[in-house]
Amino acid sequence: MALRLGVDLGGSKIELAVLDSQGKERVRRRVPTPHWGYDVALDVLAAQILSVEQEAGARCSVGMCMPGGVSASGRVFNAYNTPFNGRALKRDLEARLSREVRFANDAKAFVLSEAIDGAGAGAGVVFGAILGTGVGGGMVVHGKVLTGRNAISGEWGHTPLPWMLPEEYPGPRCNCGRLGCIEQFCSGPALQALKEELGNEELALERYEDRLARAFSLVVNFLDPDIIVVGGGVSNMDRLYTNVPRLLPKYVYSDSADTPIRRAAHGDASGVRGAAMLWPA
Ligand SMILES: [Zn+2]
Repeated sequence: MALRLGVDLGGSKIELAVLDSQGKERVRRRVPTPHWGYDVALDVLAAQILSVEQEAGARCSVGMCMPGGVSASGRVFNAYNTPFNGRALKRDLEARLSREVRFANDAKAFVLSEAIDGAGAGAGVVFGAILGTGVGGGMVVHGKVLTGRNAISGEWGHTPLPWMLPEEYPGPRCNCGRLGCIEQFCSGPALQALKEELGNEELALERYEDRLARAFSLVVNFLDPDIIVVGGGVSNMDRLYTNVPRLLPKYVYSDSADTPIRRAAHGDASGVRGAAMLWPA
């Protein structure tokens, strides 16, 4: 039976899991991300992978997800809060483990997991949005992650919010250096800031839902997915799943806009599951 080991590498923790061919978890482990420089971090990462593999009892394929991505040059980019940014992590880890390691951005791994056996199971084209501290996104088409020529496909959070209201324009400065990114309007902290700004919970939620409908209408006009799956802290608000789909027709350029919007099924586990699923069962 083929065992698949997945690694979800974050700024504060590394999550590891081994899935069997049915997608059932055999082993699960969580360790803190080391921040003592690249060489030590690489040693810790490789040692954890080998130790989890030993616990699973058989050789595993290895898939890994992390913030940012691995560019065509083989270097990690946009993973500022990890010790691996700017490094040739894929090459170095493959040398330590004597096998190919597949990499994906963490939002893309999340969508893959949801598309295969989560909220998007059975849908041909799945767009996944993570609404957490930041805003991430990714696309899975017929079971495969779209990475894109520049490894940036689905990175919808760093696009300006469409149809800004006069009081929204030009929007806050984003971590990426630009003004008015969707991330600055639709993240968890952005929702919190809106509640404080408006001083009225209900009004803030209505405005937030309208922003989300505007942001999703961009995805529908470009990709027209069969379903949008939402993860991250904000995804726990039930009302989003009735109110935002109702607002979509106001913004989508078509005579119908009935795209289902669903909450992710696997919660925090979707990253590590999706990483393992970068290899076929
Ligand atoms: Zn940005």
